[in-house]
Amino acid sequence: MSLARNFVLKTSSLKPVESLVKKSFLFRPLVSRFIAGDTLEQAITETEQILSAGPRITLDYLGENAHSESEALASCQMYAQMLDRIDQSDKVRAWRTNHSGTEPMNISIKLTQCGLDQGSDFAEANYRKVVERAVELDNFVRIDMESSDYTERTVDIVTRVHQELPNTGTVLQSYLHRNDDDVDLMIEKRIRTRLVKGAYLEPAAVAYQDKAKVDEQYVAQAKRFLDKGTYPAIATQDEKIILELKKYVESNNIDKSGFEFQMLLGIRRDLQSSLVAEGYNVRIYVPYGDQWYPYFTRRLAERPANAFFILKNLLKK
Ligand SMILES: Cc1cc2nc3c(=O)[nH]c(=O)nc-3n(C[C@H](O)[C@H](O)[C@H](O)COP(=O)(O)OP(=O)(O)OC[C@H]3O[C@@H](n4cnc5c(N)ncnc54)[C@H](O)[C@@H]3O)c2cc1C
Repeated sequence: MSLARNFVLKTSSLKPVESLVKKSFLFRPLVSRFIAGDTLEQAITETEQILSAGPRITLDYLGENAHSESEALASCQMYAQMLDRIDQSDKVRAWRTNHSGTEPMNISIKLTQCGLDQGSDFAEANYRKVVERAVELDNFVRIDMESSDYTERTVDIVTRVHQELPNTGTVLQSYLHRNDDDVDLMIEKRIRTRLVKGAYLEPAAVAYQDKAKVDEQYVAQAKRFLDKGTYPAIATQDEKIILELKKYVESNNIDKSGFEFQMLLGIRRDLQSSLVAEGYNVRIYVPYGDQWYPYFTRRLAERPANAFFILKNLLKK
């Protein structure tokens, strides 16, 4: 992990910095590049535009770590509302008619938003209800992976719920030392998994700190998913890695319809379009909601040049 990335993640967690960033108009253009708006309707408008250009969508209602049971229940209500609203979209219906394969617009949710801090059983019951709604609507729910404090519980809960309700999957992070074992488990249980490098500030005891090592792990684990996974999602904006994996797919005659690339809203749109044009399945992760700060700072940390540019301008004022 680069020093600059560490610095951005640590600095942005300071309360005065948070309040400065939230108030400053300088950040607005960047926020709106990464986030589809404050409301579900704004997000639906943006996602329908993306769908018409070819990629699929996964919709994320921003927020993490519910502070109370009632907050968690409200988030889960929003998740159910998202599934209902997606089901009512004419653009989504038209997309389904014209394309084969997996659902055009699914949702990504977080177990801490379902109340994991309030209790594992409570969060699991809330999550299960969301997946039950997805089953009724023939849709899919993915649990995002959060910091390593939650990895074990997330893997356990998803594995348990998936046994009864297969319309769900999760995310694994290549920077974690434990990840090879989790890849084995997801392959064995046939759980749809998104592979990412990992976005949180983690200590050396649990995660590789060296970017080259994380990249190496990522490529090796992505190849294992492409060989044996259940409709894996290769989620990265790293062009070098995408090129290497495309070569792997071609030289091993791997069916393009058996996996998808995933990318974040507002990042490398050129690459998103070229993958669609080459006939790959692509899904864009589209976050919305007014709790955008933690998500936004993780995006800044991935490209500290963005943060330093804005910081310089703030200091000039
Ligand atoms: C669809 C999707 C879902 C994700 N879900 C999770 C999750 O559940 N849990 C989790 O921990 N992490 C998640 N992540 C984030 C992930 O862990 C990485 O932090 C993030 O994808 C950046 O890594 P990278 O693979 O793009 O490679 P990097 O080596 O970080 O970046 C490669 C290149 O991509 C471009 N790029 C990357 N990030 C940015 C940015 N913010 N702004 C501008 N350009 C950028 C740059 O050109 C950069 O050189 C998700 C990522 C994606 C794409």
